[in-house]
Amino acid sequence: MNIATLLDMAVAGDPGRVAIGHRGSGTTCAQLRRTAAGVAAVVHATGARELVFAGLNGPAFPVLLFGAALAGVPLMPVNYRLSAGALTDLLGHAERPLVVADEAFAGAFEDVRTPEALMKEAMSVEPATGLEGSPDDPAVLLFTSGTTAAPKVAVLRHRHLASYVLQTVEFASAGPEDAVLTSVPPYHVAGVGSVLSSLYAGRRMVHLGAFEPGAWLELVRSERITSAMVVPTMLARIVEHLDGRPAEVPSLRSLAYGGARMPPPVLEAALRAFPDTGFTNAYGLTETSSTIALLGPEDHRAALSSGDPAMRARLGSAGRMVPGVEARIRGAGSPGAVGELWVRGPQVSGEYQGAEALLDADGWFHTRDLAHFDDDGYLFIAGRADDTIIRGGENIAPAEVEDVLLQHSAVREAAVVGVPDEEWGERIAAFVVVHEGAGVDAEALRSWVRTRLRGSRTPDTVDFLAELPYTPTGKLLRRQLLDTTRRGRRG
Ligand code: AMP
Repeated sequence: MNIATLLDMAVAGDPGRVAIGHRGSGTTCAQLRRTAAGVAAVVHATGARELVFAGLNGPAFPVLLFGAALAGVPLMPVNYRLSAGALTDLLGHAERPLVVADEAFAGAFEDVRTPEALMKEAMSVEPATGLEGSPDDPAVLLFTSGTTAAPKVAVLRHRHLASYVLQTVEFASAGPEDAVLTSVPPYHVAGVGSVLSSLYAGRRMVHLGAFEPGAWLELVRSERITSAMVVPTMLARIVEHLDGRPAEVPSLRSLAYGGARMPPPVLEAALRAFPDTGFTNAYGLTETSSTIALLGPEDHRAALSSGDPAMRARLGSAGRMVPGVEARIRGAGSPGAVGELWVRGPQVSGEYQGAEALLDADGWFHTRDLAHFDDDGYLFIAGRADDTIIRGGENIAPAEVEDVLLQHSAVREAAVVGVPDEEWGERIAAFVVVHEGAGVDAEALRSWVRTRLRGSRTPDTVDFLAELPYTPTGKLLRRQLLDTTRRGRRG
């Protein structure tokens, strides 16, 4: 199936339903279809082979996503925060791009249209028909985060994205009051997934282009938002902004988080601040067309109210695999032990531009995440295999040490990386951000960890930073921390 078919189904179901924007004045499904078909005609007339978008998440994004699909070319959303040089490098991955950029970022490109100009042009031309192409054509080209390597272009074909939606969302299942607040950027797979699933479910989309916790809470209240998705760094900022006060968002029934590991203290504070909201942890990768495992609201509630440590631990789980996706742990010493997570299913692309899909002969994709399942099939993500610290021959998952550091009342954020070391192979370097006014020294934190974990897991060094480096989508930039320690040693 082509993702444009999802739009056609939404139009056939209820053409007058407001799909994007304010309840009374937003864009209806039929208007979205008309504008997207106009965009497709413009794209086709230019002979472009890709539609590139450098802009904030907003009403233009769904139009461009479906405009590209109706033109039979992939949409290539790029990170607008990159330098002009880096953006030019990314454009080098496109064959013949048509670039659309928000006014604020347009200066980085030579030949560029703003979304407003493109929409205007789209409404003045005959809408395109019959250009969609096959389910096997690329629908979206996304740059991977590149936290440990140079970015690669992940290829998501129509059939991958359509499978994700058809397997996980029920058509027209949303009620007339349902509205989703999207604050993840368009260049993240969750941004794409959110447009497709919201439209298919019949849920009105409201956008917050640049995330700010106060504005997010305000918008949830003023637009009576019923569901939202955030990355962990956003939830941490919301909790910090609330500073112990309840969120007071009676309309918000569901809050999903994912895209990176959620620090347990942030989740616990969020559960207290949003007592009437159902929480969902969504785990997925770009290469798997977004979510492949979910920990739902019931699981959160059961874990929170349980005195049983095994049940309570489920708050740190990524939940169970979604329908249609199989999972296997390979390389674990024993059943139930941590190993490498492999997944298989129709939404799993595992493909990068210029390379064959990285699936093995039986269609399995190596996520490169370390993970284990408990006896009831709940998935626990221990972190990226590449981030594992090997100290004196012992494998150490940074998350294990980070979680213990985070339990210390003075610690607000913690990151742990392996630094090359002649004696140990790697030593453990911890980086910590403390709460305002909290006083703690490196030795106290080292002994805090030493008394809770094995001695070999004690950080060899602890550095205090004002903030940790994250990507806008909440991923910790470990490589940057490693560079910090290298510079520190030279200087
Ligand atoms: P990306 O493809 O850039 O979105 O990165 C995918 C990676 O983010 C996964 O392989 C995980 O390491 C991490 N990740 C995504 N969602 C979660 C989650 N809910 N919990 C823990 N880690 C996650």
